[in-house]
Amino acid sequence: MKHLDISKALKDTTLIGETVVVCGWVRTFRDSAAVSFLELTDGTSFQKLQVVIDKSVLKPDPECLKLGASVFVKGEVVKAYKGEGNELNAKEIALLGNCPAEYPIQKKRTTLDFLRGIPHLRLRTNTFQAVFRVRSVAAQAIHRYFHDNGYYYINTPLITASDCEGAGEMFRVTTQPWQTGYKTEEEYYKEDFFGVKAGLSVSGQLEGEVAATALGKIYTFGPSFRAENSNTKRHLAEFWHVEPEIAFAELPDVIEIAESLLKYLINAVLTECPEEIKFFDSFVEKGLIDKLTHVATSDFGVCTYTEAVKILEKENEHFQFPVHWGSDLQSEHEKYLTEQVFKRPVFVTDYPKEIKSFYMKQNADGKTVAATDCLVPGIGEIIGGSEREANFDKLVAAMKARGMDMDSYKQYLDLRLFGSVPHGGFGLGFERFVMYVTGMENIRDVTLFPRSVKNIM
Ligand code: ATP
Ligand code: MN
Repeated sequence: MKHLDISKALKDTTLIGETVVVCGWVRTFRDSAAVSFLELTDGTSFQKLQVVIDKSVLKPDPECLKLGASVFVKGEVVKAYKGEGNELNAKEIALLGNCPAEYPIQKKRTTLDFLRGIPHLRLRTNTFQAVFRVRSVAAQAIHRYFHDNGYYYINTPLITASDCEGAGEMFRVTTQPWQTGYKTEEEYYKEDFFGVKAGLSVSGQLEGEVAATALGKIYTFGPSFRAENSNTKRHLAEFWHVEPEIAFAELPDVIEIAESLLKYLINAVLTECPEEIKFFDSFVEKGLIDKLTHVATSDFGVCTYTEAVKILEKENEHFQFPVHWGSDLQSEHEKYLTEQVFKRPVFVTDYPKEIKSFYMKQNADGKTVAATDCLVPGIGEIIGGSEREANFDKLVAAMKARGMDMDSYKQYLDLRLFGSVPHGGFGLGFERFVMYVTGMENIRDVTLFPRSVKNIM
C-alpha cells in the first residue's frame, strides 16, 4: 500500500499543504463537540502523529477510533496546532483491522512483569518501542565502529564439538531419540548426527582467534548459548555476543579498544535516539542522560583484582559472600566496586589464574592472568576479555592442569606453533549493553523472546 512513514509526515515541513496517506495503529482517541483526535503510530518514530477529524466533514467507522485498531488515513498535512512538527487533517479514514476491548495493552501503564507474559504484544508499548529502537541503533553502531576501524566481520559456527569451554553450560545438539539402548556414551554419540557429542557454542572466541591470526583484526556479532542454571536479571540462555579479536594486541590494547567501543556506542545512541533516551531518563532511570554523557567523555577506572580485593575486604561484613584473594567476584562485589568506589565503569585486571579460563595469558608472577572484566554501575560485568596465552608450552601446561583433552584442541594449539603472536580480545554482552544505555533493569526486557531456565514462551 503506497503510504508515507509517520516519521516523515511529522517532521517534513515541505509537506505542509499536501495530501498524504499514512497507516498506523491508534494509540489514543479524544473526542470533543466538533472535532475528534486520533494519535497514530506506525513504529517509524517515537512521537505519534495527531490526526484531526472534523466531525462536520467526516464520520468515520467507530471501529477506527478504538485503541489498538489499525487504520488508513488520507489527509492534509498542517503545522501542529500545539507542539512540534506536523499533524494531519483527515479527509478519509478506513479500517484495516479492528481491535476488540480485550486488547491487553491499555492506556494506563502496566507492569513490566505483566508485559513479560505477552511478549508478542508488549512491543506496542512506548517502553518496548524505545528499547528495540535503541537496540537496533546500537547493533548498527557496532558494525560501523568495527568496519570504520578496519576489522573484518566473521561468522563463527554455532554448533560446536569442543567440549571443555563451558562444559556444564553447554546445550547439546542431537537428533537421537530419547529412547536408546546404548551401553556407553561413545556408542551413543557415534550414532548421533555428527558422530560425536555436539553442542551450541558458548562463545565464538576460539574460532575468532583462528581468523585474527590471519586477518589481523576481526569481530563476531552473533548469538551465544549458555545453559545458565540461575535465574538472574542479567543472564539469558540465548544472548547476543560481540567478540573482537585482535592480533598483536596486549592487555592494555584490549582495554583501550573496549573503552573506545563503549564510548562510541553510547554516543551513537545519544545522537540517534534522543527521544527514546529522554523517555528512559524520565520514566526508567532518572539521570540517565547525565550518566551516559559523563561516561562518554571521561576515563574509565582501572584497578587490579588484587587492589579490588583489598578494597572489598574492608566491606566484607556487608556482603553475602565475603571476599578474599582467590575468590571469584560476585555480582554484589562488582556492583560495589563500580557503584560505590569508582562511581563509573571500571576495568578490573589480572585475576587469579584459577578462576579464569585456560587460554588467558599467564603473568610473570605465576599467580595471575592478563584478564580484564569491565564492570558498570547497575549491572556489574558487561565485558570479559583478556590477552591470550601465545606460548605453546605454557598453554599446554595450563590445559593439562585442567585435565583437558589435547586432541580436540589441536587446531587451537597449531595457532601457537605456526607464527604465534601476542593477541587478545573480549566479549561484550549485547543485551547487557542495551540494559546499560536504557536503564532497563531486567535482561528479559531488552530481548524479544527471552530464553531462560523453564522459560521458552
Ligand atoms: P557472568 O560472570 O556475568 O556470568 P561470564 O564471566 O560468564 O559472565 P563471559 O564468558 O566473560 O561471561 O562472557 C562475556 C560477556 O558476555 C559477559 O561480560 C556478559 O556481558 C555476556 N554474558 C555472558 N553470559 C551471559 C548470559 N548468560 N546472558 C547474557 N549475557 C551474558
Ligand atoms: Mn567474564
